[in-house]
Parts: sequence; C-alpha cells; structure tokens
Amino acid sequence: MKKKTFTLGIFGGGQLGKFLVESANKLNIRTFVFTDSADSPAIYYCDDFIISSYKDKKKLDFFIKNIDLATFEFENIPFKTLDYVEKKINVSPNPSIIKTLQDRLKEKTFLNSIGIKTTKFYYLKKINKKKLDNNIFPALVKTIRLGYDGKGQVFFKNKIDFLKYSFKNKEYIIEKLINFKKEISIIISRDKSKSVSFDAFENLHKNQILQKSQVPANISAKLNVEAKKIAKKIADKLNYIGTMCVEFFITKDNKLLVNEIAPRVHNSGHLTINAHNVSQFENHIRAVCNLKLKKPNRFHRAIMYNILGNDIKKYRSKETTKNEFFYDYGKKEIKNKRKMGHLTKIF
Ligand code: ADP
Ligand code: MG
Repeated sequence: MKKKTFTLGIFGGGQLGKFLVESANKLNIRTFVFTDSADSPAIYYCDDFIISSYKDKKKLDFFIKNIDLATFEFENIPFKTLDYVEKKINVSPNPSIIKTLQDRLKEKTFLNSIGIKTTKFYYLKKINKKKLDNNIFPALVKTIRLGYDGKGQVFFKNKIDFLKYSFKNKEYIIEKLINFKKEISIIISRDKSKSVSFDAFENLHKNQILQKSQVPANISAKLNVEAKKIAKKIADKLNYIGTMCVEFFITKDNKLLVNEIAPRVHNSGHLTINAHNVSQFENHIRAVCNLKLKKPNRFHRAIMYNILGNDIKKYRSKETTKNEFFYDYGKKEIKNKRKMGHLTKIF
C-alpha cells in the first residue's frame, strides 16, 4: 500500500465534508476534520477528527500542527477562525474570499462592480424605509449573514406589510422577488492556472430549499455557455482555488441574474458523483491539493432528489434499482427540513 503522508484539514463535518473526505480517500490523501458538532457525517470516513468550537485556539493550534493545508465545506465557518489558520498554514480557497461572500451585501456589490447582474437590492440600514422604492415589491428581506436553505428570509408582498414588520437587531438587505423562468447553477473548479466547469444544473427549490437538480438543464446552449463564462469571470476575479457554485435565475426574457455564490462544493452538484467522470468533490480536492483537475465529462442524464427530515425513514427501507443511488448521510438527529440524504437517478 502506498504510504499516506500528506494531510488535508477540512473545516465542517456535514454531508459536503463527508463527500470531500471520500474523494480524498480515493486519491490516497489523509484527512483531518474539524467540526463543531458531534452529529457530523464526515467523522466516520476521515482519518482524524476534532469536535470543538471553531473558536478554541488550543484545538486550532493542534489541528494546524497536524495538517499540511486546510479547506472548508461550508462558508459559515467563522472568518476569524479561517484567518487565524491562514496566518500559519495555507487555506484554500483563501479566507479573504469568504469575507466577501459571507456577506450578501458585499457579495452583490462585488458582482455588480465586475459587471455581473443581480436582483435589485437595497441595504436596509442605509435607506429611509418609508421612502423605499415601491417597485422593489414583492420582495424578500434577507439577513446579510449566516443564511442558508432560506433561513433568515422574510417575504413581503407590499410596502404596507413591510413597514409593519419589526426587524430584529440584525443587518438586512431587501431584494426584489424575481418571477423567474428557472434556476440553474454552474459548478466550477479552479486551480492556480486553469479552471474547468460542469454544464448547468437545473434546480427546483421548495420553501427556499433545493428539492431536485437535474442534468442536462433544459436551457439553450447559448445560455449554458453564457452562465459558464460568468462563473469563470467570478472565479478568476476572486483568484479562487477549489470548487465553487454560482446560482442563477433565468428571467422570463432569458436573461441571467446571479442569485448567489457558494464558495464551496454545492448540493446541486451531488449528481456529479454518479453522472460524470469526475465529481465536484474530487475536483475540489484536486484543486486545493495541487493535483491536475479533470475536465468534466457527463456519462448520463441524471436527477437528484434531496431527502429532508422524516422522509429518510421511507427511503431507508426502499429497494433501489441499478440506476438509483441512495445516500444516507447517517445524521443521528432527524429534524424537520434537515438534509438527511439524497437519491440520484441516472438515465
Ligand atoms: P440561501 O442562502 O438560503 O440558499 P438564496 O438567496 O439562495 O438563499 O435563496 C434560496 C432560494 O429562495 C433561491 O434558490 C430561490 O428559489 C428563492 N429566492 C431567493 N431570492 C429570491 C428572489 N429575489 N426572487 C425569487 N426567488 C428567490
Ligand atoms: Mg442559495
């Protein structure tokens, strides 16, 4: 057996971490997971793990001593933690990117500054609510930080309802609700010199949580190329190393608007495990560990369904066919709307 020496540290131990670890295992790379939750799927697959607050400097120092380089599976790992580690050891993608993308206001401002279109938005702190542009409604108010799976979002049909609402002491943006035709995502992996991306995935959300993703997306070849170009522009401008995802709305008149950027592997790319020659996870590991990226090549059409909360119980006893791949994340606690597993069907 080839000796495993190089150790990759991974912050976060959720299902994204689990799939990253499995890809690293395949490439004979040792992994060390740092997670703040005992109920972390990745800990069963990695070589070592620490369960601790992300703020514990002693634990962080021990982690740093035992890894060659660090990455993360989730953008809401505290910036201070990643920055502390980056001062001593290489972190990919660079934590300064997280600082921009953890903050919806900075993220959209950055996108607009490089000529990429987003929904119309305002920073609530900086506007007179009573004078707010009526055209923004119907609108969504989103917390600037720490939102995922629709958490921290409130919908307002009109200004009257908006003015009645009392906001907590947090920072928010308000953005126009888009009556979109569809949602797609582009997953791109970039190393120091080059990038490769998957064709668009078509995504359907229910209650702001991804319900299913499919490939190929039912869009024109032109829109697919355009979306890939936008993703490449973002990755290049950020000098991004690793896999990232750009989520888009396609408007009724076939224009692309970027909804958000996930600086990590993404739920819409789970089907790459079964439908392609290389998964988004493997290319992330390759990019951060300085191994040659693999150009994605799709072998099958595929649909991925997320399995939330109690639904996992039904799937656990269900038979699967040879074209179906069921993944149970092995989370101990079943919570309403919690992502518990997924099923990919290939065609
Ligand atoms: P999260 O960080 O929780 O993923 P998103 O901003 O991506 O937040 O919102 C989740 C989903 O909610 C989107 O994929 C989309 O379906 C819906 N959504 C969010 N913002 C808008 C918007 N401005 N117009 C229409 N739908 C939206
Ligand atoms: Mg999103």
